[in-house]
Amino acid sequence: MTTNESNPLLRPATTLPAFDEIRPEHVVPGIRALVKEVEGMLEALERDVNSGWDTLVEPIERMQDRLGFGFGIVDHLMSVRNSPPLREGYDVVEPEVVKLLTRIGQSQPIYRGLVALRALREGSGGESLDPAQRRILDKLIQEAELSGVALEGSARERFQQIRLELAELATRFGNQLLDATKAFALDLSTSEEIEGLPASFLEMAAQAARAAGMETATPAAGPWRVTLDGPSYLGFMKHAKRRDLRETLYRAHLRRASEGTLDNRPLIDAILRLRLEEAKLLRFETYADLSLSRKMAGAVSNAEKLLEELLSASHEAAVRDLDEVRAFMTEHGAVEEARDVRHWDVPYWSERLREARYDYSEEQIRKFFPLPRVLDGLFTLAKRLFAVEVTSADGEAPVWHPEVRFFKVRNLDGEEIAAFYFDPYSRPAEKKGGAWMNEVVGRSRLFAPRGRNARLPVAYLICNGSPPVDGNPSLMTFREIETLFHEFGHTLQHMLTRVDLGLASGIRNVEWDAVELPSQFMENWCYHRDTLVGLSEHVETKALLPNELFEKIRASRTFQAGLQTLRQLNFGFLDLELHHRFTPGGSETPFDVQRRVAARTTLLPPIPEDRFLCGFSHIFQGGYAAGYYSYKWAEVLSADAFAAFEEAGLERSEAVAETGRRFRETVLALGGSESPMEVFKKFRGREPTTAALLRHSGLAALAY
Ligand SMILES: [Zn+2]
Repeated sequence: MTTNESNPLLRPATTLPAFDEIRPEHVVPGIRALVKEVEGMLEALERDVNSGWDTLVEPIERMQDRLGFGFGIVDHLMSVRNSPPLREGYDVVEPEVVKLLTRIGQSQPIYRGLVALRALREGSGGESLDPAQRRILDKLIQEAELSGVALEGSARERFQQIRLELAELATRFGNQLLDATKAFALDLSTSEEIEGLPASFLEMAAQAARAAGMETATPAAGPWRVTLDGPSYLGFMKHAKRRDLRETLYRAHLRRASEGTLDNRPLIDAILRLRLEEAKLLRFETYADLSLSRKMAGAVSNAEKLLEELLSASHEAAVRDLDEVRAFMTEHGAVEEARDVRHWDVPYWSERLREARYDYSEEQIRKFFPLPRVLDGLFTLAKRLFAVEVTSADGEAPVWHPEVRFFKVRNLDGEEIAAFYFDPYSRPAEKKGGAWMNEVVGRSRLFAPRGRNARLPVAYLICNGSPPVDGNPSLMTFREIETLFHEFGHTLQHMLTRVDLGLASGIRNVEWDAVELPSQFMENWCYHRDTLVGLSEHVETKALLPNELFEKIRASRTFQAGLQTLRQLNFGFLDLELHHRFTPGGSETPFDVQRRVAARTTLLPPIPEDRFLCGFSHIFQGGYAAGYYSYKWAEVLSADAFAAFEEAGLERSEAVAETGRRFRETVLALGGSESPMEVFKKFRGREPTTAALLRHSGLAALAY
């Protein structure tokens, strides 16, 4: 048993996490002690609320930081060093932490204090707030109001009940979708049925068959099990030659969770109805109005205007993309099918067309990109653009796995400004898939060590690349390089902040639809010839990436951009329409709305039994409700930001450096201290336009 004094989770957030000491058995006593401590802070604050910045807003930051740092470490370990004892501890304390955070966010005494503070500082007496403080205050008040804090009596009760019901419905929606996905399987046993499927797919399918009890299944001889899980479904639709089997799978996919005991249709009705009621209780006309009130787009009309612009630019290109698929089918003997192209033909024939045009194998590309070389190139780019030096500091901080690296970031004059951990490789047994950036601690003057004006920001940068094998370094696919650049973009915004107010530094307080700006911006560099070639060095021959391969990579970026854009627009419009113009219980069903939207935003009409909405988990289970448009919104911002570099001249190093400094001092430095539109304008000198995104996607020529 450990005492609290020796529990490493209780150390102050001015030291780096003691990953060399933290054990699963520290979790429950450690986090419980933190919860208790912060509860004490909350009660003291509520007992004596006053309206000073230092006596009200700073304590809020102290509470969030104290809880966030300790629990953040546990949360992080759950993602990168998962184990049964750790999970057990986490499951015990996680609800307690969530409950306390909700209590802080919904505290009525604190809310009243914040409102009074704003009124006081707006009035003539007392010193006024600076713009960053004002924004923090506005956001704290807004978030409290959106969580129902200002409601009284029966309205408050009803609101809390709606919240609970919605949380439950979202979970059920997800579970039913998962169960329905699992309930379907297509078992194949003849070589004719698997024609076209690549070896890696057959391996996966044989493994699925073995897992289902067909113990003798092998990749070569079958049997093979095809499922509705993403990789299996998409792989089959792209590669299976048998048209009727693709049709079967397509229909099964669109019917998921729409019948029998796993029917999501009543849940969709209930979710939309309750969301509208929630919005009305908070005095919004629609749920979309509520959602947009806290986003950069600000109003439904702005989000729709952007989607409309992209629609008029991409519709014709999509028609052309589909015509190309038809022509290719005819050329390759599928004359009958080409006359009546169906949904289940498009992925298969598109993939054949892509192969014919740009084929390059992932293996071929990977050999040019050993991870150490790519990292070097990325840090060189960061130095060139943002005038920062990234240097290895391995050994200066305890890590959670021997593969994890530690880096420090300095200004060119040597001043240390930030640090980050980098965990590069996949470890399926204990580490979550995907890639992400998370904060260890944020920049804040409240926690400044002696002699400094702020605590420096530290980040986790997590990837899931292939580990080194046979003495070779890890070799990266192009997609992995893009992902690394993406996450490094988030990391830069966290680290290069110049905001000393902890509640608005780095990525904190940045609107949800603006937060992908720096990350997607960084991805653009992967398509810049000199940058990408600069990251390359063939693992055997030491050669640079040949031009011909670079051109293929670049050309494939715009492959079927029309169709792909249209698909995203369809989802974006549908989401807004359901949360803005649909009347629950009215003359239209959600599926009527889907058809109405599809008439404008798809080329092949939905099949009659299409129940896509029953699987649209982004908006019914995840956080994208009236927010799906954000994907495109952020792409517009990041493409337009990159265009500033193109306009300066990508080959002119001084101009690039100057533009990079401006990007650093605005987008990366200001974080959540100003409205994202103001920040963007400070960088770009004007509001964002869709021109650059259309040009990068090869859609500009068709945009009138
Ligand atoms: Zn991201």
